Amino acid sequence: MRLDGRRYSNNVEDRRGSGGGGLKKIGIGGGIGGLIIAALVVWLSGGNPLSVLTQNSNFSTSTEVSGDYTPTAQEEAYANFAKQILAGTEDVWTEEFKKMGLTYRPPKMVLYTGAVNSACGSQTSAVGPFYCSGDETLYIDLSFFDQMEKQMKAGGDFAYAYVIAHEVGHHVQHLLGTLDDAHQQMARSSEKIANQLSVRTELQADFYAGVWAYHDNKIFNSLEAVDI
Ligand SMILES: [Zn+2]
Repeated sequence: MRLDGRRYSNNVEDRRGSGGGGLKKIGIGGGIGGLIIAALVVWLSGGNPLSVLTQNSNFSTSTEVSGDYTPTAQEEAYANFAKQILAGTEDVWTEEFKKMGLTYRPPKMVLYTGAVNSACGSQTSAVGPFYCSGDETLYIDLSFFDQMEKQMKAGGDFAYAYVIAHEVGHHVQHLLGTLDDAHQQMARSSEKIANQLSVRTELQADFYAGVWAYHDNKIFNSLEAVDI
């Protein structure tokens, strides 16, 4: 892909190295239980427990890489790439929604390593990149790109971009009401029908990724022969 000079999305939160809850800095395992224990420790040692709680709520919205995590050059390249691709989806979908007389509300993207807390519960990177409509956020552990290359033999920047565009596709489904309709239908269907609905939902997200690729290339001339 040709991405030189392309802008970076501002809707990216970098939680890499924060170990799932952004709690690593105070040396507690994670979760609300850890937070309460940390507050107790501070209180017992004569401090103000509220300062711990306040500090932690700051961590969860921090955009800085926390702890002792230092990204490699490759990981930094992936992060910048992801920010550029997300920016492209923002430009494309803003235009496409405008054509339908609608306003596009861009999703957030959280970069994480290992495990992450979302409105859809805590997840590990074993689930792969995912979208949570509860907080309108894409979650991605960028090591998935290495897995694609090494384990799935499906490397290449356009393939990685397509993964991001697919998750954005679920966000488009959410904004248009399709995703929530599908989830409601799945909840009252047999397993067989629910599976079919799930497959169709995934295929439509793939279709939306294709819509993005078409328009991104039209606007930015981003695709090269090797991508196709
Ligand atoms: Zn999907």
